[in-house]
Amino acid sequence: MLKTIDFGEADRVLTLLTRHFGKVRVVAKGIRRPTSRLAGYVEPLSHATFQLARGRELDVLTGAESRSTLRAVRDDLVRIGASWYIAELADRFTADRSPSAPVFDLVETALRHLEAGYAPGIVCRWFDLHLLDRSGFRPELAVCVQCRGPIAETVNLWSPDGGGVICSGCVASLDHIGVPLSVRALKSLRYLIASDFGSAAKLRVDAPLADELACLLRGFLQHVLDREVQASRLLDEIAQLPAYPVPA
Ligand SMILES: [Zn+2]
Repeated sequence: MLKTIDFGEADRVLTLLTRHFGKVRVVAKGIRRPTSRLAGYVEPLSHATFQLARGRELDVLTGAESRSTLRAVRDDLVRIGASWYIAELADRFTADRSPSAPVFDLVETALRHLEAGYAPGIVCRWFDLHLLDRSGFRPELAVCVQCRGPIAETVNLWSPDGGGVICSGCVASLDHIGVPLSVRALKSLRYLIASDFGSAAKLRVDAPLADELACLLRGFLQHVLDREVQASRLLDEIAQLPAYPVPA
């Protein structure tokens, strides 16, 4: 489940991402009452099998069987932020009632690894790149988007407007809008987009590289969506919080 909106006296409208029917909005009647037998199954980001009945406008939730509740994610603020980020992007990149099995599988994989304790930064960057790829917005990382020539191992330009990398030769000859792209960030992007999560998790990423990758993809996603990903700001705020005191 991606998100919920309170509705009426005790109801909620749930937005579900389903494997076979895409994004579906359903009504959960009486779900906010303490006696509701379904309440425990409809936590945001829970993975469940849902039974629905046809309704006049929206289908009605009649039963649920939990498959995963992301218990470990819920205990950690950074993981909570990362899971909201994944849910927001999944919501933005899918349409109502349009089959989206590739995106569903990607969300499921990302949340499962977040729950298993993998670094949220790697989970999110891997998710960003594969979501863009599966949605038809794969960034061009092999050749220059301007001259189609090879990309040399030097600082190039990252151009969300152009859809990928602009080579240093084109940058020198023309005015382009973008941000510098380091060699190791380019190599990391190429590696992540070509890898399943098991291989992606082996990538060594220090803090400056993690920041660079986050910044590059944030700009790219913002350009594709034509708006900022709200959960990115939430993650910024969480990163600014003082670290929890460590007991001596
Ligand atoms: Zn070029």
